[in-house]
Amino acid sequence: MLFKEVLGHKNLKEQLIAQVTSNRVSHAQLLLGPEGSGKLPLAISFAQYLLCDNPTDTDSCGECQHCTKVKSLTHPDLHFSFPVVVSKTDGVSTSDDLRSEWNQLVSQQPYFSLNSWLKYLDDMGKNPIINVEGSSHILRKLSLKSYSDKYKIMIIWMAEQMNTQAANKLLKLIEEPPEQTIFLLIADNAETILPTIISRTQIINVPGYSTDEVASFLETRYQIEAGAAQTVAGLSQGNVVDAIETVQGDSAQSIYFELFVKLMRSAYAANPNELIEVAEEISLLERESQKNFIRYGLHIFRESIIMNYLKDKTLSLRDEELNFLNKFARFINNQNITEISEEFNLAYYHIERNANPKILFTDLVIKLTKLIRKGV
Ligand SMILES: [Zn+2]
Repeated sequence: MLFKEVLGHKNLKEQLIAQVTSNRVSHAQLLLGPEGSGKLPLAISFAQYLLCDNPTDTDSCGECQHCTKVKSLTHPDLHFSFPVVVSKTDGVSTSDDLRSEWNQLVSQQPYFSLNSWLKYLDDMGKNPIINVEGSSHILRKLSLKSYSDKYKIMIIWMAEQMNTQAANKLLKLIEEPPEQTIFLLIADNAETILPTIISRTQIINVPGYSTDEVASFLETRYQIEAGAAQTVAGLSQGNVVDAIETVQGDSAQSIYFELFVKLMRSAYAANPNELIEVAEEISLLERESQKNFIRYGLHIFRESIIMNYLKDKTLSLRDEELNFLNKFARFINNQNITEISEEFNLAYYHIERNANPKILFTDLVIKLTKLIRKGV
């Protein structure tokens, strides 16, 4: 993976490159930052840079044999250690037993969380650890002669999942490292890592992404329209893993749901600032999505009425929608349903005729505030 393929972190990339050019590569480094901040891709691109035969001032060459092997995750000097759910029946005791699954996921999509890793393995809800057997494997591998004649690199992903025995063994390795060995530890949270490990590593603070970075990533990688990308990015609060999961999941539905809940909450509270904000958010969507949002709203209103008056009828709702409606549906009733539906249908009509969306949605949310009151 090239540096330029990793989202953002311009300054950090320069710092990592400077370590190499000034010949001051620290042998134990901890990349520390919130979930979804791209630490794993960053570590892999740094490893590639360290192993590359012809690195430039800004990146690996991408073409030498070392670059090619790092890209396919088969470089003999690039080792990974990561949490696994130990299971005798599945024959899993260390990361090595799941290395092909790991390679598959990393090549598919290198931005993922511990949760996405467990989901990928179908191990949700189980306890993943890096255990002492894993550490012994690390030791064995690192005592081998390097293939590249440069470095042996061990990336330890989610280092906070090491148990105490494993951490102590790793500590010894960091204190007396095998020759030309570099440890790149990755962690979301330093609190559960042994303080003695932290004090012996150089800490690289990896900040979370900005909303704009996440939005542009979604637009280019997932062909998401600008407005929707901004909405998802905003909801993800800089967590790119979260944003990817939103767009890969039931993407549109989830965006509309979040927006709808926000709209109804602010209409119910009659909070002018929030109302203006949500009206702006909706008006940023593409015209087609605005229409879909209106349709989605009408669908939820209909379901609310069914829930209130036709208790036996089956509802076509997802779990999060049902949870919301259990509290919200009672505000949509005979007192206001006709007028609310009319306003939404009217908005739909005007969007189709190219009305200014900002004015239109501001107008709609103000009316909605009054109509929701009627139902209370
Ligand atoms: Zn290269």
